[in-house]
Amino acid sequence: MSPRSMQAKGAAGHVEQADVVIIGGGMVGLGLACALNGQGLKVLVLERREAEPRYSLGRDCRVSAIVAGNVEVLQGLGVWSHVDDAEPIRGMRIWDDQHSGSIRFDAAEIGQQALGCIVENSRLVAAMQQALAGSRSVEVRCPVEVERVRWGVDRAEVRLHGGQRIAAPLVVGADGGHSWLRRHMGIGVQVRDYRQQGIVATVRPEQPHRGMAYQRFLPTGPLALLPLPDGQCSIVWSAADTEAERLMALPDAAFAEELFLSFGPLLGRIMEVGERAAFPLRMQMAAHLVRPRLALIGDAAHTIHPLAGLGVNLGLRDAMVLAQEIVDARRFREDWGDPAVLDRYLKARLPDLASVMGSMEALHQLFTHQLPGLSGLRGLGMRLIGNSGPVKRQLMRNSTGLALPLPRRIV
Ligand SMILES: Cc1cc2nc3c(=O)[nH]c(=O)nc-3n(C[C@H](O)[C@H](O)[C@H](O)COP(=O)(O)OP(=O)(O)OC[C@H]3O[C@@H](n4cnc5c(N)ncnc54)[C@H](O)[C@@H]3O)c2cc1C
Repeated sequence: MSPRSMQAKGAAGHVEQADVVIIGGGMVGLGLACALNGQGLKVLVLERREAEPRYSLGRDCRVSAIVAGNVEVLQGLGVWSHVDDAEPIRGMRIWDDQHSGSIRFDAAEIGQQALGCIVENSRLVAAMQQALAGSRSVEVRCPVEVERVRWGVDRAEVRLHGGQRIAAPLVVGADGGHSWLRRHMGIGVQVRDYRQQGIVATVRPEQPHRGMAYQRFLPTGPLALLPLPDGQCSIVWSAADTEAERLMALPDAAFAEELFLSFGPLLGRIMEVGERAAFPLRMQMAAHLVRPRLALIGDAAHTIHPLAGLGVNLGLRDAMVLAQEIVDARRFREDWGDPAVLDRYLKARLPDLASVMGSMEALHQLFTHQLPGLSGLRGLGMRLIGNSGPVKRQLMRNSTGLALPLPRRIV
């Protein structure tokens, strides 16, 4: 935790005033706090606890591919300079089980050195905390437990276990896929349960990865090997629940052998496998992203299949757009918890969310269904995209977020 982080404080009868309260200090909640830092607003981040990372060959087993557009944003916010161990993704190769086609993306094709970077989640959180250290306007409180939120006409009042009360015109839910705040508000979710688990671990292949991210679509789901420093790779192996249970129960050597057989010989044998962890995979969308004095961002608002590594990237984009709307509202003396302002956040985010969630579902269907002729069609599609320079480059610019405008304060 940053030096300004502290236990909840304040006398029971006193109501502390803030401008924005963010519930959840993960990558997205802290991303919003970083974007609001130095904007003349008092921001409180309430984090329930610092989850201990689960280590796999000495690294947090949870990593994220942060796309180039968001790396630029994090550089602009002064966060990236604190990320000390990220591996650039120089290119990406995608192919399917039946070798009906493959596609390769190289950062150089769009004039970039990298399509993005792989970073351990806990390192990115720590970098955000460091960027906020010494801030006069943002405070991260941890560990604190929110008891309830009361929604008034011009302010919401957050009450913590222990009796402390904080009032603010806007409360932001950044408390993850199981969002307490979303449930507390009675906001339902639309769920597509893939009945799959994403198995993650650090592994060491025999051959160097050369900064390439690999994704092979197996009939059971995609298997990704993502580049890490020191020749290691992070795997995300999506498999049906029962298959995932079987894979999780294998001894390390047998797991390494199955990984090698499923991925193929591109990187040679798997020499070392670290501790594994498995996460249930769901696409989920909250029925409402905003309510008067409430906005949901990140996984609290939506989760997607990790096959394109875009979940936290979408969340960071929510955070940047919401920050811009709050800062603009303040400049024009508007109430940033008012539905009219929050609707602007919603309208700005819906096209991106609909497009990414729609494409994730289409990709998942395309690569997991075993209908006759589909494999040939997939191969043809990959070859067509691979051979069409402009289409491929546009796809790369879209998926790396480089086609999106930078937040105004960062430009
Ligand atoms: C296997 C797998 C691989 C993935 N790979 C990628 C990838 O490569 N790229 C990518 O972009 N995305 C990836 N994702 C998605 C990414 O991990 C999530 O989108 C991201 O973690 C969401 O961040 P968040 O801050 O919204 O939520 P979280 O990371 O869940 O953080 C929520 C925070 O809120 C806190 N909290 C919870 N409840 C409360 C409460 N009641 N009060 C206070 N605090 C609370 C939690 O302690 C936590 O710190 C992957 C997901 C999975 C499952």
